[in-house]
Amino acid sequence: MATTGRDYYELLGVGRDAGDGEIKKAFRKLARELHPDVSERPDAEDRFREVVEAYEVLSKSETRELYDRYGHAGLRGGGFTPGHVDFGNLSDLFSAFFGDDLFGGSVGRTRARGADIVAEVEIELVEAARGTTRQVPFEVAVPCARCGGGGAEPGTEIKTCATCGGTGRLQQVSRSVFGEFVRTQACPTCQGAGRIPDQLCTECDGAGRVIEERTLDVTIPPGIHDAQRIRLSGAGHAGMEGARSGDVYVQVRVRPDPRFVREGNDVFSTVDLTMTQAALGASVTVATLDGDEELEFEPGTQPGQIVVLRGRGMPVLQGFGRGDHRVLANVLVPRNLDEEQRRLLEDFERRAGDETYRAEEGFFQKLKSAFR
Ligand SMILES: [Zn+2]
Ligand SMILES: [Zn+2]
Repeated sequence: MATTGRDYYELLGVGRDAGDGEIKKAFRKLARELHPDVSERPDAEDRFREVVEAYEVLSKSETRELYDRYGHAGLRGGGFTPGHVDFGNLSDLFSAFFGDDLFGGSVGRTRARGADIVAEVEIELVEAARGTTRQVPFEVAVPCARCGGGGAEPGTEIKTCATCGGTGRLQQVSRSVFGEFVRTQACPTCQGAGRIPDQLCTECDGAGRVIEERTLDVTIPPGIHDAQRIRLSGAGHAGMEGARSGDVYVQVRVRPDPRFVREGNDVFSTVDLTMTQAALGASVTVATLDGDEELEFEPGTQPGQIVVLRGRGMPVLQGFGRGDHRVLANVLVPRNLDEEQRRLLEDFERRAGDETYRAEEGFFQKLKSAFR
């Protein structure tokens, strides 16, 4: 079925008297621009089909003559059915037309690059604070050492594929009154390799690549955040025929630490003080990213009061300094009093007055500065 009613010469941007070489050149240029694997244009595929169709007709003298004389109607009348373009096989079609250099080789080389691998490690928050190293196991495809990547058992023959005769491509020829139209696709028997091992390599079953277990030492920098990735350039799967290997991306999971809440580079924690510790002042052990530490709480410490440990938070990733660690006092009010304790507190209450609870001057000032 013809897919376009547009003028074939116009589509290729050539004059009606253009020679075969000029038509081929114009088509090559357009094919490079419009190939759906390359072009960003949304209508690239449709434009591409039109251009392929135009080239099909104008590149053969029989169809070109017919088109010159009778236009599209002439072609239809003659039973010509262009436009059966299977996009899965287009690159093969182009290889057949032009050889493999259509895209200058650069696209092909990019495609042959080895695949990336994603691995994951989990670390503790305190390890993220210090930085750490981890051995990360992963599986990578490497060329099979037994067959050298050819897929044949050593000492056995590699035969030329009988289906495609070694070209790796199959040409499907349809005949019409105008001549032959050729479609090309990758050979299904040899998957385009052109050669088939007589006996498959026992190590890789003919795949030419084997999976190898590897371990990488990964250095995790201080201050890393949850879900950040570290890229290890070139450590991924082997590329085809010497092309560069893929990369390994190590996704770092920072396990939440029940003792700390992390916010950016700052950490928060709470510490329990008894009512009397808060009132009398106390030295209490608190957990920090650098280990346990004795912290002094002044007499009259209020619930929610915060002690700031400057520069004791998380390190700034790939920078200087550290965030802060803020320790929030949680004052425990006794819930279960025995007779004696109740009597003591009642006695205390009788002796206490406004003066007992008066805020120290500047306390709210201090509280505010703690949040800065
Ligand atoms: Zn092998
Ligand atoms: Zn074949």
